[in-house]
Amino acid sequence: MPPSPSRPGLRELLARGERSYSFEFFPPKTDAGERSLWAAIRRIEAFDPSFVSVTYGAGGSSRDRTVQVTKRIAAETTLRPVAHLTAVGHSVAELRHIIGQYADAGIRDVLALRGDPPGDPRGAWTAHPQGLTHARELVVLIRQLGDFTVGVAAFPERHPRSRSWDEDIRHFIAKCRAGADYAITQMFFHVDDYLRLRDRVAAAGCDTPIIPEIMPATDVRQVGRFAELSNARFPQALASRLEAARDDPAAGHRIGVDYATAMSERLLAEGAPGLHYITLNKSTATLEIHQNIQSIHTTRSARVLAAAR
Ligand code: FAD
Repeated sequence: MPPSPSRPGLRELLARGERSYSFEFFPPKTDAGERSLWAAIRRIEAFDPSFVSVTYGAGGSSRDRTVQVTKRIAAETTLRPVAHLTAVGHSVAELRHIIGQYADAGIRDVLALRGDPPGDPRGAWTAHPQGLTHARELVVLIRQLGDFTVGVAAFPERHPRSRSWDEDIRHFIAKCRAGADYAITQMFFHVDDYLRLRDRVAAAGCDTPIIPEIMPATDVRQVGRFAELSNARFPQALASRLEAARDDPAAGHRIGVDYATAMSERLLAEGAPGLHYITLNKSTATLEIHQNIQSIHTTRSARVLAAAR
């Protein structure tokens, strides 16, 4: 089933200054996980997002599942799938083969990432002997292989391996200039971190749109895992409120959705080009945030129209 005819390509949408709203999934490991993923995909499909993306696993069968899920989204839904792809453990020939598989399935959107060292994500990075060293080279490769819209990663608290902000911004801009159409950030919980990154990139002369990633934190038990995954500073006040709701999932849910809604609202008011929601393969919290944001905007537009009459 082709994407909805009303939805422009991501490059066109961002170039027109329109906002992109998207949802991220990961490849499930079990049949039950697969069923819950597809239930989430179907619920999100009804909201006609700009795209959905599927993360690329650390190795082996999870990578095959990424490719299968991404292709199935392209074939069986009206959604636009963005395939994450990393350079970890792949030769250039293998990367070409995967990109070719996507092209054959009609997928034209790839998020080009270096990936983290397998085993210890904070360990030293070693490239495959016939592979690529940095995401910039993957952007170049994907561009050479066809008319793909290419995204890259950005880090509001800078990449943990970058030695300085200058170095981080320089390498970020190099991958944008190599052909990235947009960037999506790592998760973060302080809006000012996003704004500082965006302003640093703009001050260095780069106007690639940077879409903030939104992770609803609804359970205090997730907080350690977030830090492991992303290095993101977690707000103490939010952690305390979630701790107080440790045994009350409904209250935790409310706290997380409200915090993420307020963050999203401020990001959009500050001119962010859209929002990319991490779903953890469940749709409830992210769809609530999305609906909150849409209703805030509809109410605001109605007020502006009424004032103009
Ligand atoms: P790069 O852009 O290559 O940067 C990595 C480091 O190298 C940075 O410190 C950079 O400053 C430095 N660097 C870049 N170029 C040079 C150069 N020429 N010389 C010296 N240093 C240089 N991981 C997965 O495994 N699967 C996923 O699906 C996935 N999805 C992600 C989605 C998003 C939105 C984000 C933000 C991250 C995602 N990641 C994923 C994690 C990502 O792969 C890691 O954070 C990885 O460590 C950095 O990837 P990168 O593409 O930013 O790498």
